[in-house]
Amino acid sequence: MKAKYSVVVPCYNEEETVNAFYDAVIPVMEQTKERFEIIFVNDGSKDRTEDLLLELAKKDKRVKVINFSKNFGQQAAILAGFTEAEGDAVVDIDVDLQDPVEAILPMIEKWKEGFDVVHGKRLVRKGETFFKKKTSSLYTKFFERITGLKIPKNCGDFKLFDRKVIDVLVNMKEHDRFLRGMTEWVGFKQTFVEFERKERVAGKTKYNVKKLVKLATNGIVANSGYPLSLSIKCGIGLGVLSLLTFVALIVLECVKVSVPLASWLFPTISLLFAITWIFNGLSNVYTARIYNEVQGRPKYIIRDKINFER
Ligand code: UDP
Ligand code: MG
Repeated sequence: MKAKYSVVVPCYNEEETVNAFYDAVIPVMEQTKERFEIIFVNDGSKDRTEDLLLELAKKDKRVKVINFSKNFGQQAAILAGFTEAEGDAVVDIDVDLQDPVEAILPMIEKWKEGFDVVHGKRLVRKGETFFKKKTSSLYTKFFERITGLKIPKNCGDFKLFDRKVIDVLVNMKEHDRFLRGMTEWVGFKQTFVEFERKERVAGKTKYNVKKLVKLATNGIVANSGYPLSLSIKCGIGLGVLSLLTFVALIVLECVKVSVPLASWLFPTISLLFAITWIFNGLSNVYTARIYNEVQGRPKYIIRDKINFER
């Protein structure tokens, strides 16, 4: 019989936390009185994570392990877990117990009420530096402004998804993934469960600045062609400025104020730049279109159909 619930857990160099996570999550999932599976995705760990996971899988068949050939990143690990998950509801959670496993139960309750996505919302964020919290909230604002997608505040990747949402997310074939943005983009009925984010149970964060910048860039680029069209806006701005300068110089000439010949240089050069930027921007707009096509997101997503025979 297949599992009703799947818990997907990306792990990278987490030898200090996997056993603690297992010990915490099992009693919680057993309270559901339903079949469940815990899918650990070992994202190319170089420590003893793999050995520990294999031990767990040996003693408990509800534990499943996917070993990556190298480190592909948390987003890829989540995708692998979602692809293999068989549950009607699928939870994504970090292994470090920062997100409390007990919160899975109220998430399941919300799912039973008919919600398709349940976000874990952090009321308090312990174990995160001021810098991380500030940059994260600034990024969220910037992301919303540029992409027009509203990522719920203080929500990470700890979420529950209904099977139909998982099927859509898995079928979105884009290469560089940003689950938070994709979850917003797909729509469906969404709600929250609130919790206090704790400190890591052990070990250190697996995100360095390079990984964070890559994730943040992917989020914007995958969801908006706006940066590509900036060149047109700059071009138009500069073009207007240059034309105004021309007008001012002509007026001065007309009222017989002599302007040095070099004054004509600024509007002439800036007009040339403006024209270049505008054409460059236009070609960027086509690039953005090509990117959209290549990304191949579905043109629409149906939540349900009523009175259809098939
Ligand atoms: N993780 C991963 N691959 C990576 C980096 C992180 O699978 O390249 C996992 C990690 O083991 C953890 C989760 O993603 O389960 C979140 O990572 P972390 O706790 O380091 O992030 P933070 O909470 O500091 O943002
Ligand atoms: Mg963490």
